[in-house]
Amino acid sequence: MDELLVVEGLRKFFATSRGIVRAVQDVSFAIRPGETFGLVGESGSGKSTVAYTVMGMYRPSGGRILFRGQDITMPHARRPLALKKELQIVFQDPGSSLNPRRSIREILELPLRVHRLVDGRRLRERVEELLNIVELPPDYAEKYPRALGGGEKQMVAIARALATEPSLLVLDEPTSALDVSIQAKIINTLVRIQKERHLGYLFITHDLSLMRNIAHRVAIMYLGRIMELAPAQVFFERPLHPYTQMLLSSIPVISEEEERLKPAKIVSTGEIPSPVNLPPGCVFHPRCREAWEVCRREEPGMREVEVGHLVRCHLYGA
Ligand code: SF4
Repeated sequence: MDELLVVEGLRKFFATSRGIVRAVQDVSFAIRPGETFGLVGESGSGKSTVAYTVMGMYRPSGGRILFRGQDITMPHARRPLALKKELQIVFQDPGSSLNPRRSIREILELPLRVHRLVDGRRLRERVEELLNIVELPPDYAEKYPRALGGGEKQMVAIARALATEPSLLVLDEPTSALDVSIQAKIINTLVRIQKERHLGYLFITHDLSLMRNIAHRVAIMYLGRIMELAPAQVFFERPLHPYTQMLLSSIPVISEEEERLKPAKIVSTGEIPSPVNLPPGCVFHPRCREAWEVCRREEPGMREVEVGHLVRCHLYGA
């Protein structure tokens, strides 16, 4: 067993006044130590719901979540403390995830105290170590979040997540609320920390270009389902699913090599269906230029078309 996290057939439905929203349906993947697994999708694809369900913030409607082989399909409050310590999350908006009434020292000390990780004499030193990991000077410990820029707040949020020495970080769009120049610094810091600590990352994003640079494997979600999952190089060089091809055809590229590999521009047709009124068959068929009769009738399952490359599409049937 070398996987840190295994997600099997995960489902999450919400009851709303408009009907049942099937936010996550039949989602399966695994993450190994030292690996960045990118979960990509447009707004409403269900990627953040997967992240929150993995963290125990939502109770799954079906499926299983295993951490180092142990079943953790339970709400966060019922998870053992030793397990909570292993899985930490960094949210999109550092402004709202840091308590404005607490100093950075108090924010970083809290997980150390809750998990009883260091004794009182070592607290000060450990806070400074955590700031050092994210390249913030020690005197930042006495500041309050309002005195920090967006990127600095996100560095504090990362330091807080590292306080318990986790083995898996869930990164929920950690750079999308920040300026481009600051995004690069955060990404470089996350990559360095991963190399130093052999952490697994579940990286949630809508930004496919970002995944090209940092993910080891990528899965793309559409209306709650994973449509394609592959090693990053295969995903970007040989995308198979019509939805992946459509999205990749519209992202900016920076090198001639990327331009050569980019699929010809595919213009999307049709509207994204309502999640409370999904179409029968393949949920992508109203927008798919390859759709034929069976696509409107039968939902395709996930098929492994080559080692580690899975696609949910009738084009790649038996
Ligand atoms: Fe398109 Fe059919 Fe494949 Fe769905 S199953 S992506 S509609 S070809």
